Amino acid sequence: MGEEHGTVVIGAGPAGLTAAYELLRRGMPVRVFEADEVVGGISRTVERDGWRFDIGGHRFFTKVSRVEAFWHEILPDEDFLLRPRMSRIYYRGALYDYPLNAMNALRNLGIGEAARCVGSYARSRLRPPRDQSHFEGWVSARFGWRLYSIFFKTYTEKVWGMPADQLQADWAAQRIKNLSLSRAMANALLPRRNRKDVTSLIEEFQYPKYGPGMMWERCAELVEERGGQVSTNTWVTALHRDPDRRRAVAVEVTGADGPRWEPADHVISSMPISELVDALRPAPPAEVLACAADLRYRDFLTVALVVPSAFSFPDNWIYIHDPAVRVGRIQNFGSWSPYLVKDGRTCLGLEYFVFEDDEMWRTPDADLVALASGELARLGLVAPGVVEAGYVVRMPKAYPVYDERYQRNIDVIRGWLAREVPNVHPVGRNGMHRYNNQDHSMLTAMLTAENIACGTTHDVWSVNVERDYHEQTSNADGSSGSGTGRDAPVMPARA
Ligand SMILES: Cc1cc2nc3c(=O)[nH]c(=O)nc-3n(C[C@H](O)[C@H](O)[C@H](O)COP(=O)(O)OP(=O)(O)OC[C@H]3O[C@@H](n4cnc5c(N)ncnc54)[C@H](O)[C@@H]3O)c2cc1C
Repeated sequence: MGEEHGTVVIGAGPAGLTAAYELLRRGMPVRVFEADEVVGGISRTVERDGWRFDIGGHRFFTKVSRVEAFWHEILPDEDFLLRPRMSRIYYRGALYDYPLNAMNALRNLGIGEAARCVGSYARSRLRPPRDQSHFEGWVSARFGWRLYSIFFKTYTEKVWGMPADQLQADWAAQRIKNLSLSRAMANALLPRRNRKDVTSLIEEFQYPKYGPGMMWERCAELVEERGGQVSTNTWVTALHRDPDRRRAVAVEVTGADGPRWEPADHVISSMPISELVDALRPAPPAEVLACAADLRYRDFLTVALVVPSAFSFPDNWIYIHDPAVRVGRIQNFGSWSPYLVKDGRTCLGLEYFVFEDDEMWRTPDADLVALASGELARLGLVAPGVVEAGYVVRMPKAYPVYDERYQRNIDVIRGWLAREVPNVHPVGRNGMHRYNNQDHSMLTAMLTAENIACGTTHDVWSVNVERDYHEQTSNADGSSGSGTGRDAPVMPARA
């Protein structure tokens, strides 16, 4: 079959831009269409009034050597900072070291509360919770109710927006594995080299000095310099297929000049797979549409507040386990890179886990800035009245949700796409409904580009199925095994 139209890439996030760059490396023509006005997707760096901040801080860390090489091909070494990682847990006025340190935890909890925690643990060993099928039962059986409620419950509920007794235990079982209080104590007391069951934490990570957006802005420039096309403010609104030839033939894009057709030999898609399925014309069968409609997401908003650097802290971020406030995590962008901040001030990013269109999502920006400023003062992290400016960024579909039906939904969609439109290639994070960080999102794009350009048959869906990828298998903060605090639990599906 003649290839004359080249490849269309949907989305200029890490996956889309990596795919375009890799195709051009092999001399293949490519056009990238990006709905937003900026590139970088979730890995963008937002700039407001000269302050730069991430959608969550983005660490550059990978075990995939070709991804590492790619990053350094795009940006010269001097554009990277090597940052120490520091993050703590805030709970009821105290900051707990993370990973937990026994002496620090004891000091913060006080002898009385520490004794109650041990008592509660002993009770859970003698009379384990009857129902351990959910997160709450499973974790409190292993740590006791009191420790569970301090270090696991609140943050987990903030992240996923539902009571922990409705989250399936699979997540905890998969992430926390064999850890229990006794083993956690041993890990907290022993020198790091003697610790068991905890693969080493990422102590340092790379970070482009002007944030991750710098990487993707430069990558987009290089794609254009090499003859590719990157069109921002251009939505892919439909994907046309020829059912007889079993191929996608064109995408419909809508930009400033209205809709137009763009023919394509291949389509690499990093748009949410649920929306991709919905955009196909003629539409796929009802079963496939139903699977797409059943995929869920958790959304995210950041309120970035400018404060005098006297209120800076050394952590890159602090987990907020305190139930008195809604904020889930606070980034200190000045600790990520001094190039993100200026004028003797730092920028703190208060992160709220939300659902698109819930009450918080719809709250006007000025009210969110007031809420976040109030919460920061209430936590005692800044003095009241010192916030000088505030900016709100909403990020829909930040987290693909793994509910009990998602895997089957994806299998159905994937099977149908492979049969009916094998020249449509899902890549990336929401593109595959996979909890991928940048590196895995990029790797799926690299392998896809190779499949298109060289006729290889890499199974892109096998990327990121290994466990224990990043660091710990067990997080005392109840967040995740990836150590990013960004992992996805298995959640109950809607009734
Ligand atoms: C809070 C948070 C923190 C994170 N921290 C890290 C970290 O520390 N390190 C790390 O490596 N990763 C991190 N990640 C993950 C990282 O953000 C993603 O892996 C990465 O951005 C995914 O790249 P992608 O290209 O697949 O998707 P995206 O970044 O989502 O990009 C997809 C692009 O497609 C565009 N698009 C969607 N629909 C259409 C359409 N119809 N037409 C045209 N364009 C469309 C979107 O606008 C977007 O620009 C984090 C994620 C979150 C949410």
